[in-house]
Amino acid sequence: MGKALIIGCGGVASVAIHKCCQNSEAFSDIMIASRTKSKCDALKQKLNGGKTRITTAQVDADSTEQLINLINEYKPDIVLNLALPYQDLSIMDACLATKTHYVDTANYEPPETAKFEYKWQWAYRDKFKAAGITALLGSGFDPGVTGVFSAYALKHHFDEINDIDILDCNGGDHGYPFATNFNPEINIREVTANGSYWQNGKWIETKPMEIKRTYDFAEVGKKDMYLLHHEELESLGLNIKGIKRIRFFMTFGQSYLTHLNCLQDVGMTSIEPIDFEGKKIVPLQFLKAVLPDPASLGPRTVGKTNIGCIFTGKKDGKEKHYYLYNICDHQECYKEVGSQAVSYTTGVPAMIGTMLVMNGTWQKPGVYNIEEFDPDPFMEALNKWGLPWRESFAPVLVE
Ligand code: NDP
Repeated sequence: MGKALIIGCGGVASVAIHKCCQNSEAFSDIMIASRTKSKCDALKQKLNGGKTRITTAQVDADSTEQLINLINEYKPDIVLNLALPYQDLSIMDACLATKTHYVDTANYEPPETAKFEYKWQWAYRDKFKAAGITALLGSGFDPGVTGVFSAYALKHHFDEINDIDILDCNGGDHGYPFATNFNPEINIREVTANGSYWQNGKWIETKPMEIKRTYDFAEVGKKDMYLLHHEELESLGLNIKGIKRIRFFMTFGQSYLTHLNCLQDVGMTSIEPIDFEGKKIVPLQFLKAVLPDPASLGPRTVGKTNIGCIFTGKKDGKEKHYYLYNICDHQECYKEVGSQAVSYTTGVPAMIGTMLVMNGTWQKPGVYNIEEFDPDPFMEALNKWGLPWRESFAPVLVE
């Protein structure tokens, strides 16, 4: 039984909050606190009546002082950060000041540069250790489940893993010519950045979308996928024994890419502020305001996601291949929690990671990436809470 403060009330938070309420044995009390309180109240109204007691609050998560006051007032056992990556450090500071455990799903990004690195959050290791509290970084799907899959593969199937290909396939169709499945600003910053992969201890940088492959995904079919930089490459490169190469691929349809190229060509994806009618605006933030809200895609998205990792390594001196993945159906997710599968596949692991830190299974003072914990309880919970995993010992490899 525990008490969690959940910050943010967008697409991912909505799923995590539904899941906390389904898991009232672990979450006896939750507070939903976000910038727009009316969204928290609407969700509370929808979910009230179960065993989990829900309260709501307004908070600006850029303000450590406001967060400290809220934590002191509510006294949660843990804070689950489901706001945006820009708020990670202010929330970690508030957790330190109040000695409260911390969980998130995305690494800190400075608003003015699209940089995906753990260095800012890893700099908190000693402070969290000294305070005797745990920070669990990246408890979504990717990062998140991909790290748990890697730790599980190493623990149960390999003596060393040399190669990991993370394949993130969204075979869903929302019927719009262009929309993003999670926060458009964060999504577009990620896919317009240079790509990179980790090889023999070094980053190899590519132009955005320079490397393309086609893969035949179970229950989805053949899709084009592109190599992107992704934050878990950095931590897995350090934490998984024997690693020589890690790559991350994400599928994109032609319509998405054509629109994205056009938006980029006209300057709409820029994060440099411009003067517009006497006011400073960031083009990408303006674009976000005119695109469909990802939370509204749920009812109209059909199809499935298929996300997982293909491992190549050695067991008893022999080369071995192993594929761990999850398939999730957009409409099934919508029926269960009112959201599409991209939010679902992030919100469920966010709830599970929070539960494991809160109930002590995963507590160790300091700041840790998810693959640094024992993967077994998390793998068991994925099957129980809606993201069952599948495995193959003879996967088709990516060229
Ligand atoms: P949304 O934009 O849907 O939701 C973000 C929420 O945070 C909104 O409720 C927003 O409030 C709130 N918020 C933003 N700024 C502040 C602030 N200063 N103070 C308080 N609240 C604030 O995003 P998503 O739900 O799509 O994504 C949430 C997180 O999940 C992001 O960090 C994203 O990167 C991460 N993510 C991780 C994935 C993974 O697999 N690891 C996959 C997908 C997403 P308001 O309602 O007022 O806008």
